[in-house]
Amino acid sequence: CGVFGVFNVKDAAALTYFGLHALQHRGQEASGIATSNKKEIKCIKGKGLLTDTFNSQTLKQLKGVHAVGHVRYSTAGGNEIENVQPIMVRSHKGHFAISHNGNIVNAKELKEEMENNGSIFQGTSDTEVIGHLIQREREGTFEEKIIKAVQHLEGAFAFCVMRENCMYAVRDKNGLRPMSVAKVDDGWVVSSESCAFDIVNGKDEFDIEPGQIIKFDYDGIKKIQYTDKTQKKMCAMEYIYFSRPDSSIEGINVHTARRLSGRMLAKIDKEQGGIEADIVVGVPDSSLSAAIGYAEESGLPYELGLIKNRYVGRTFIQPTQKQRERGVRMKLSAVRDIVKGKRIMLIDDSIVRGTTSRRIIQLLKEAGASEVHVRIGSPAITHPCFYGVDTSSRKELISAKMDANEVCEFIQADSLKFLEIPEMMEAFETEDLCVACFNGKYPTDLYDLGEQLEEE
Ligand code: 5GP
Ligand code: SF4
Ligand code: MG
Repeated sequence: CGVFGVFNVKDAAALTYFGLHALQHRGQEASGIATSNKKEIKCIKGKGLLTDTFNSQTLKQLKGVHAVGHVRYSTAGGNEIENVQPIMVRSHKGHFAISHNGNIVNAKELKEEMENNGSIFQGTSDTEVIGHLIQREREGTFEEKIIKAVQHLEGAFAFCVMRENCMYAVRDKNGLRPMSVAKVDDGWVVSSESCAFDIVNGKDEFDIEPGQIIKFDYDGIKKIQYTDKTQKKMCAMEYIYFSRPDSSIEGINVHTARRLSGRMLAKIDKEQGGIEADIVVGVPDSSLSAAIGYAEESGLPYELGLIKNRYVGRTFIQPTQKQRERGVRMKLSAVRDIVKGKRIMLIDDSIVRGTTSRRIIQLLKEAGASEVHVRIGSPAITHPCFYGVDTSSRKELISAKMDANEVCEFIQADSLKFLEIPEMMEAFETEDLCVACFNGKYPTDLYDLGEQLEEE
């Protein structure tokens, strides 16, 4: 998902709209914006793309200088309208709106406990659990309630809470999901990715630290470290696939990280006996950076062998397999004159189910490619993610059942290589990563979600 927040900037709704637009790649199932005019909070949300719900008319209804917005990619809870964010909490103690990215792994336990104590939940999303946790605290200021509430949460979360006159941005203690802050005029903006800051003229940006809460009010910002049991475990998949190439996460530009992963793949090929190919082709859009890197390091020409139809959304993000398969067919086509008779070094960012690679290789061979060698800019995904990236079922992961040779055969490639975890870390120049979907070492407890690992 994508989260965007504004504190104390004129036309907060319009700013949030622009911010969310830059984050649309993070979720396309639903979107919403809540604003505060310092007295009351209003919220509009709907299914589909941002432009399906918002236009100049709807934005005009959202008045105020504070806002939180959300674009949704559902991994926990279905796509019912009750689960669409921001989630509004209205009570006699005050109102607030929450936008959340990530996945709370102990949401079920917390929810059951609260239901046994009389709480009623509207939807099935874990975000509502955060609202209830804040709400049920009887003592203390709102700030103290948030600090207490987050102590109960386990998993991946980066969220924004907006009240009538203040806002909070929170990151989990492992820093699994990204969230940054920037200055705009006399106010502030918060975003899942830094790519959204350019369009709103954000300056002096910084990442919120793991285990940190940033409080925004009219006195400025306050940094609150709510726990010192922190680690730096940024989701590796943010660099590999999820984020936009013009974003920087923890000081590392995403395009640069991908390009270095491509260079690493070529370096390994050179060491292991050379490269037998004519051209390098990346799968648009997320693999183009890695393909550029591979071409640079190998000396082979980088070519546009595949073209993407820009008017088809991210195939993976579509909830069902049937929608995804149709999506791939609509989305990519081979450039016949470029690939005909060529030995192709095809670079992709990851293999999840294997459907995309298999289809692309078929496309390239139908268009006359003589050989297709596949290099993947990440390790083989052998384990499900419980932190908000939709590879939740192990059954669907091709590398959970097959080794690289078998996957190579399934996708009908002439050869296939993945990066190993240490090679990826060397390429990205950081070890501060979650790599659980590649090695099964989860940085948090999994509660009953872990049962899934044993069953399958
Ligand atoms: P599959 O192997 O499942 O057919 O597709 C993998 C491709 O889907 C990757 O090349 C990647 O670009 C794209 N993709 C879309 N969403 C995601 C995601 O959430 N995680 C990963 N790893 N890849 C994704
Ligand atoms: Fe990211 Fe994989 Fe960790 Fe999930 S398990 S947070 S996809 S690195
Ligand atoms: Mg891809």
